[in-house]
Amino acid sequence: MKQIDQWVRPNIRQLKPYSSARNEFSGEASVWLDANESPFNAPYNRYPDPLQTTLKNRLARQRGVRPDQIFLGVGSDEAIDLLYRIFCEPGKNNAVSIVPTYGMYKVCADINGVEYREVPLHDDFSLDVEALEAAVDSDSRLLFLCSPNNPTGNAFPAGEIERLITAFDGIVVVDEAYIDFSSHPSWLRRLDEFPNLVVLQTFSKAWGSAGVRLGMAFASPSVIGYYNKVKYPYNISAPVQRYALDLLDREGEVRSWVDEILTVRALFIERLEELPVVVKIYPTDANFVLVRMDNAPAIYEWLVAEGIVVRNRSSVALCGNCLRITVGAAGEMDILMEALRRYSQSVKL
Ligand SMILES: *Cc1c(COP(=O)(O)O)cnc(C)c1O
Repeated sequence: MKQIDQWVRPNIRQLKPYSSARNEFSGEASVWLDANESPFNAPYNRYPDPLQTTLKNRLARQRGVRPDQIFLGVGSDEAIDLLYRIFCEPGKNNAVSIVPTYGMYKVCADINGVEYREVPLHDDFSLDVEALEAAVDSDSRLLFLCSPNNPTGNAFPAGEIERLITAFDGIVVVDEAYIDFSSHPSWLRRLDEFPNLVVLQTFSKAWGSAGVRLGMAFASPSVIGYYNKVKYPYNISAPVQRYALDLLDREGEVRSWVDEILTVRALFIERLEELPVVVKIYPTDANFVLVRMDNAPAIYEWLVAEGIVVRNRSSVALCGNCLRITVGAAGEMDILMEALRRYSQSVKL
């Protein structure tokens, strides 16, 4: 059995967290004079529930986990940053991840003064499990695996991820920002088996809510306890908590958005295959497609001139001449395809 406490920074283990008015009394009352709030401008005058109890209960039912296995953050970004602050002593501990992958793991390591070790994927974007195991040492505390991976689009085999969770003496973070678009099952089903597993999900992609900033970390109650200890007391605002509760009641609608994006994605890939400037379309489990072009920077500039913005990943390891294209609405993909066809025509002349 892995012991979470042994990996926690001593100052965090000993931390006596800020005790807010709403922490000390959370029962029913009709006169609230404990938090120096204004009596005017309801409901915005009141501090929000610091532990988001109602929202977590609702989310727990929907995802098939327990409320004490959930942390809610200001985007996944907060959930990532706090893991460094909980587990990594600056200048001593290190984090290990793959490359290419999501940029925030490295940015948060740099901000926290933590060494970040990048292990390249194989050329076909599969995991190099041996190289990952070789990169780990006794000071490694975090291992980030983004699956489906951004920007490559592929999900990694469950057997390989399980091997790493089992072998690693530290926290394995599986970032599932794109899981709703994938045919692979979520690791949430197996949360109870692995006390050192943290699963990240977000409202920003399939749930259509990037603007509200709400991310989730699912983990053992021990890890969630440390999250609650170090987070800002009122990190999730009351309007965002209410918004998320409403959205969870519209789950059917969200499923229909995902279905629509998957339909548009399939058609988009079929049409891309017909373009002469396309060299390779990588398989995707996400709401974007990584495409190798004959001249990605030129195509990127052409599209920008047409008012269309995609992500140029040409300078990223293993992604030379690649564009990452988000699957948008059917009409948006029509406009993009039309511009790409005109580009193909122009280079033929
Ligand atoms: C988009 C994305 C997120 C979402 O971040 P938020 O802060 O929740 O918006 C997380 N992880 C990956 C890999 C992403 O691509």
